[in-house]
Amino acid sequence: MQDDRSSDTAQNAPHGETSRVLLGWIWHTYLRRHLGLVLFAMLLMAVEGGMLGALSYMMQPMFDKVFVEGDNAALWWVGFGILGIFVVRAIANVGQRVMLSVVEQRTAAGLRCDLLDHLMTLDGSFHQTHPPGFLVQRVQGDVEAVKALWTAIITGAGRDTISLFILLGVAISVDPVWTLVACVGIPLMLVPASMAQRFVRRRAREARDLGAGLATRLDEVFHGIVPVKLNRLEKYQSGQYGALTDKLVRAEVRARMGAAAIPGLVDLMAGLGFLGVVVFGGREIMAGEKTIGEFMSFFTAIGFAFEPLRRLGAISGVWQSAAAALERLKQLLETEATIFSPAKPAPAPTGTPEIRLQDVQLSYGETPVLRGATLVAEAGKTTALVGPSGAGKSTIFNVLTRLVDPGQGDVTLSGTDVRQMALQDLRGLFSVVSQDAALFDETLRENILLGRTDVSDAELKHVLDAAHVSDFLPNLSKGLDTPVGPRGSALSGGQRQRVAIARALLRNTPILLLDEATSALDAESEQTVQEALDRLAKGRTTLVIAHRLSTVREADKIVVMDKGRVVDEGTHDMLLQRGGIYARLHDLQFRSDGPTAEARASRALLKTAKPESAARGLWARIFGR
Ligand code: ADP
Repeated sequence: MQDDRSSDTAQNAPHGETSRVLLGWIWHTYLRRHLGLVLFAMLLMAVEGGMLGALSYMMQPMFDKVFVEGDNAALWWVGFGILGIFVVRAIANVGQRVMLSVVEQRTAAGLRCDLLDHLMTLDGSFHQTHPPGFLVQRVQGDVEAVKALWTAIITGAGRDTISLFILLGVAISVDPVWTLVACVGIPLMLVPASMAQRFVRRRAREARDLGAGLATRLDEVFHGIVPVKLNRLEKYQSGQYGALTDKLVRAEVRARMGAAAIPGLVDLMAGLGFLGVVVFGGREIMAGEKTIGEFMSFFTAIGFAFEPLRRLGAISGVWQSAAAALERLKQLLETEATIFSPAKPAPAPTGTPEIRLQDVQLSYGETPVLRGATLVAEAGKTTALVGPSGAGKSTIFNVLTRLVDPGQGDVTLSGTDVRQMALQDLRGLFSVVSQDAALFDETLRENILLGRTDVSDAELKHVLDAAHVSDFLPNLSKGLDTPVGPRGSALSGGQRQRVAIARALLRNTPILLLDEATSALDAESEQTVQEALDRLAKGRTTLVIAHRLSTVREADKIVVMDKGRVVDEGTHDMLLQRGGIYARLHDLQFRSDGPTAEARASRALLKTAKPESAARGLWARIFGR
């Protein structure tokens, strides 16, 4: 698919892709896979369309033989002939509908899965500028908008175009001049129809963008439902949502209006055509040059022909709406990740690696975040990262796991540059335990195993015990098979963290990245989680963003960061002796004569709900901010 995409000349034109480019793309990447089914459905449609031609053809013997001549035998064959036509039409109709729904569902499913696969490969910067609600709307809503398209196009190409030709054939066989007269209105509608099409595409684009905006807001409201309630933001949120919905209603109604205008124009054209035929053909019948049967056959054929023509007109409206969604989807699928595996990846280091950052610089836009950070986390040891909020500690985690690449400097694991390894191999070296344990709306067991089937019961039990998950299992109604709710909402903060530790134990990777967030836990859970973490860290290279001094004190090395640089490092004792920033911190926390008022305040800050704000408060005192 990549090749198809890169060969597309219009790939950099997200807006206003021509219909030909979009149709070519969708055919090439999705519909072609179901060519057999599409062809079979079109064959059935041709049969269905052909039956209309046969029906109008039967008008001539019905009128001339049965009604005018009174031929008794003709009465039967014409009657049964017409019944046969309807039976064949019914069978063909059911068959083609079933086939089309298979094609429609399979292509939509393919498009959705491709989108998800692709979106997951895109960088953090992409996901930062494209919020989850927006992407959900693309994957769900836009694909839904495109779904109607297959049926419309295939039905149009199959049944309607074929019936139109057959019916015109019948009409021409009766009288080519009458047929020409019937088509007199066609040139008149070309310009207004193309204007209506452009209008529909514009409005549909607007509606798709508004739909994404609505989905984003919903996502934000539901994810942030607690702050919304506590800050009494319900009215504000529903006002914002209501304003967006009003805009969407206007855009959708306008798009529908434009789409409805196209078949309306066909009706106008039909009226003019019929007027011409009645005036022109009626005179010839009155003069006895043509039979009534011939006129009825012609009139039925032309009458039937306007119906597929009308539907084809409506399809162009459907197409314009779907094209607006297709443009967006194509653009998304063509967005390329900037962080990817090298063509010839180096093997990942074996054993327990040493982590080394050398003069690493990184900016987000114009804002420098890491300004020449240099640090070493020794193999199998625990290194604590401490520093004020915004110092760049989490960014160190991100450059290690290549969620973001630095502008300059080297990041190596036992001497191998992280950019030389395959992404999958690199990320396979890390377990990350953070405040944000991504729990899914599945059972506890599924959340721990994450699709793995090779874990024995004994191994699972060992992990559950070590992570102290076993401690709270008896409190859950169905034990391991209890659903944890959306984002693990049925578990407490400490329980969620223990699940994350269990996952990390199962992964058994040589490097552990730990974003400490125990401030939301009560003293007992804190101790339990700490024990589990200590067990997890054993024998691994551990880098911990430390918010608690007890962790810092026990670390093999402490790295003090500020403003994107490493400003000090050493062991607890060395740093204390040196009497710098770290010593001031320690002094604040653990005065020998018991906590001072300031130390008590600092400790209280550390215990507030948000670890970042706690750390910010404490470090603000030390760094004088
Ligand atoms: P810490 O973990 O030490 O609190 P971070 O590494 O999270 O700090 O962030 C360092 C700085 O980088 C902060 O000032 C933060 O605002 C900024 N930052 C982090 N991520 C992004 C991003 N994706 N885009 C822009 N700025 C960012």
